[in-house]
This record gives sequence, structure tokens and C-alpha cells, in this order.
Amino acid sequence: MKFLSLLLMVVSILAGHAHAGVSAEPYAISFSQEVLALAPDGTPYTPVPIIPDRMQDVTSHRFDLGSGRDLVIETNIPDSEVRGLQEVADTIARCYSYVEQTTGRLLDRGMLLYLLEFDTVPFSYSFEATFADQNQWGEVRLAMIRKGEALTGPYASAGLAELLYDTLPHELGHDVLAEVDTLLHDVDGKPSHHTRWFIEGVCEVLAKGFARQEVPALLRHFLEMRKVGSVFDDPRMSRQVFLWEQENGNGMEMESDLYGEAMLVMLSWTRHVPVAEVLERIENRSEPVDGFDLMAMMERMAGCDPSQMCERADRTGKSIGVEYLKVNLPAARWGS
Ligand SMILES: [Zn+2]
Repeated sequence: MKFLSLLLMVVSILAGHAHAGVSAEPYAISFSQEVLALAPDGTPYTPVPIIPDRMQDVTSHRFDLGSGRDLVIETNIPDSEVRGLQEVADTIARCYSYVEQTTGRLLDRGMLLYLLEFDTVPFSYSFEATFADQNQWGEVRLAMIRKGEALTGPYASAGLAELLYDTLPHELGHDVLAEVDTLLHDVDGKPSHHTRWFIEGVCEVLAKGFARQEVPALLRHFLEMRKVGSVFDDPRMSRQVFLWEQENGNGMEMESDLYGEAMLVMLSWTRHVPVAEVLERIENRSEPVDGFDLMAMMERMAGCDPSQMCERADRTGKSIGVEYLKVNLPAARWGS
């Protein structure tokens, strides 16, 4: 329990900084990620610096993701190929395919993955990597595992599995949605367009759909984290999801619940209309689409106003809540 309470207090800052044109290395890009874990008394653990450029024995492995895209895995695991690096690459390739097939859109850039193992994975760390050719990478990610931990299979590193089967399909969803020109996204410091329920909902449907295809046992865990069977039980939460803004004062639990609600709303909508068709309709609009336009579109396409959709989403969540505890998952439609 102590371990869990530590993890729940993690604060993450993720940033990519482009130095092109202003730094001594005109094409160098610095990617940084800082995670501060807090001790139970609120004191942050001192972050351990992780800089692959200064680590010994980091090797680079290139894989073909098709359509001119590369996957490069930078790793300090000496026997990575024996331990299943190819399977990790194959999983990432399947993730790309799943997101493309479900959304009906192409991902045009590859992925750079730093896969690093440590005797002890630090709670707090600051990660920084420098690499060339920023435009090649749609995703730059860090996965840390304990020394000797499996890369694949039932005993694989939980952190790596979460990255591959939950975080990556979710983030590839963002990459797809960022290219839908007519879909408005919230920008920090600017008024909200209230599209977050749709954007995060689509990304969560993609994430859980991919997990369902690949690792049903893990899907149960991911769905439990989203409280699918009970997230709409609090009447104060009804329709709250449609007002969700990027900049908000929500605590971590409230945020997680809103992800759960958004996922169930979008799962309910896209059970009847494929995600790809919804995106095509948005793309074909001549005017920018905000959250209220999306609600109107949902009502036209699914025949449910937002309140009715919340009720439907609640029923969807409760039925999944029952079904995913069974050994064999039902053939629910996950937006495909
Ligand atoms: Zn997201």
C-alpha cells in the first residue's frame, strides 16, 4: 500500500523543446520529462538525472513501421534482442495499424523509444535526450524497467506494458486528432472550446480497444482504473464531462473520473457509428468544430442528447463492469 500511495502522488511534466535556429546545434532537439514523486509527508524525492547521451552501452535498434516510418529503440539492455525487443517493435507496429484502421487516417511519423533498465527504477527522475530530425518522430517516449525484467509476456514490466497497451494507443489518437483541421483543441491560456470530452474520449476508446485486442487481462485493470461500473453514479458528475476544460482545478481523482466518463460516452456513440465516420464528418465541416457542435453532431448521429448519452454511457459502463470480470470477454464493439 505504501508503494501505491507513493505512485498516486506522482507529478509529471512532459515537454519537448525545439532549439532549431537558436542553439549551437541547429538541428538538435531536446526532449525532457520530469517526474517528481512525493513521500507521504509531501517532500519530493530528489530527482535522479537520466541522460542517455551520457550513459554507456546504449545501443540503437531501427525497425520498419511501413509507409516510410521508422521505429528506433535506444536501449541499455545488453541482451535486448534475446529478451524480445523484436516483439516490442511488433507490438508498436500493431498499435499503429490499430489506430490507423480504427480512425481511417494515416499516422505519418515514426517513434523514438528510450527503453532503459536500472537496478532500481527511480521514483523521481529528470530525463533529457538530444536527437536530430525532429520531424521524423510523432512520438518520443521513455520506458524504464528493472534490471532483468521481462519485456513481453505475462511477467513483463508493468510500466512497459502500460506504455505499449494503454499510453501509446491513446497518444497516437492525439496525433491523429491533431491533424483533423476543423477540430478545435484547447490551448493553454486561451478560452476553452470544450472539445476535451470528445478528444480524450476517442483516445481512451482507442487505448482500451487496443488493450482488448492484445491483452484482455490488462484491459480489466485499465477499466478498473477508470471505474467504468460506477463513474456516473454521482449525480453531480452527470453532464460535467461536457464542460471539461484543459485548464482546470480538478484533483487527480476527478480528472481520472472524467477520462472514464469521456471514454464511456465515446464508446456508446461509436458502438453505432465507427470512429472513422465521426472523424470524416468533422473533417468535412466547413467551419471549426467546438464541443457544442460535437454535442449537436452526436445528437443527430446517435439520436441521444447529452443527458441521454450519459445515461447510455452509464449503462455501457455497468455492463462492461460486469462483463470484463468474466474470463472470456464479450464481443463488445470498441469503436472499430
Ligand atoms: Zn489524452
